[in-house]
Amino acid sequence: MSAPTGGPPAPPRIYLSPPHMSGREQVYVNEAFATNWVAPVGPHVDAFEQEFAHAVGARHAAAVSSGTAALHLALILAGVGPGDEVLCSTLTFAASANPIVYLGGHPTFIDSERTSWNMDPALLAETLAARARSGKLPRAVILVHLYGQSAAIAPVQAACDRYGVTLIEDAAEALGSTYHDRAPGAFGKLGIYSFNGNKIITTSGGGMLVSDDSALVAHARKLATQARDNAPHYQHSEIGYNYRLSNILAGIGRGQLEVLEERVQARRRNFDFYTERLGRMAGIEMMPEAPWGRHARWLTCITVDAAQFGVDREAIRRTLEAENIEARPVWKPLHMQPVFATCAAVGGDVAADLFARGLCLPSGSSLTEADLDRVCTLVESLHTN
Ligand SMILES: *Cc1c(COP(=O)(O)O)cnc(C)c1O
Repeated sequence: MSAPTGGPPAPPRIYLSPPHMSGREQVYVNEAFATNWVAPVGPHVDAFEQEFAHAVGARHAAAVSSGTAALHLALILAGVGPGDEVLCSTLTFAASANPIVYLGGHPTFIDSERTSWNMDPALLAETLAARARSGKLPRAVILVHLYGQSAAIAPVQAACDRYGVTLIEDAAEALGSTYHDRAPGAFGKLGIYSFNGNKIITTSGGGMLVSDDSALVAHARKLATQARDNAPHYQHSEIGYNYRLSNILAGIGRGQLEVLEERVQARRRNFDFYTERLGRMAGIEMMPEAPWGRHARWLTCITVDAAQFGVDREAIRRTLEAENIEARPVWKPLHMQPVFATCAAVGGDVAADLFARGLCLPSGSSLTEADLDRVCTLVESLHTN
């Protein structure tokens, strides 16, 4: 299998955040096969929705094929259409904003604050006040909870409520975290989660839309199944999508949800290990845990001050890559992305700084102490000051 280049074999690859099956998923998958529920409908889909809604403290949930699909549906339900402005965190993955553009809307990107790395509530409030003065409010706000940490939800929610703007939470990375003992994603009018292969729990690919509003979630399920009206023949009164989650994948999700708490504990242990070994080194700072809740540590992120540490973030990343270890720069802010170059932005320097200096270390819940030691030893070897 390996290329005939000679030399010692490469050490096994350490991935950033690989899938971590518990074994319980297989039971549900086998059950789907045994009962022939091999379709984007079935008992596992129904049960996964109920169990998930219960886990995050939302009244209703709709299981869909990806987090991106969930966000697309959330924006449709919020009434976003051509020409509408939607405010969105700038420090995030492109999937947080792409569905705005699917609908002909215009994203405006809001900078981060340093306590949580998430949307700065003061900037959001200022922006909404300015829009109210100009007489045209945005249709929605997408609040992202990055890397397993809740944003400052209360002030964001208060600002949205004040102007009657729909709050949508992108909690794709934040399952298992808390904001004052409740789950981010279940505060806004609508919230979304992702079960992509690299997320804290996975269905290989999948997502969930949650809301306390049963009519909204019922409408989401309808839109996700080609918007079929309730008639014996095929009748459609609106444009639909093919976005439902497979019953087989929902089975994987049920097994994963049972071990969510173990997965969070494992990721928090990774963070503690890194903090112990790297956190005291000059020029390295660990991503802070905001005082308002539990950081699920989906990924352990550090920022590197090159002058103090001796080398910069990219030097660390390249050294790890040369040893077959996957690390990634912190998300490149969306206001800096070529595809969003013409979009409006409010601030952006904090997110740009976190991108310039930020590095995500291998953070899978299946990492061993030997893996973590391999990463830390390499980083330590670069510390020249
Ligand atoms: C992963 C992710 C998404 C998209 O989820 P998919 O299931 O991959 O479509 C959206 N937002 C954020 C912040 C993410 O990390």
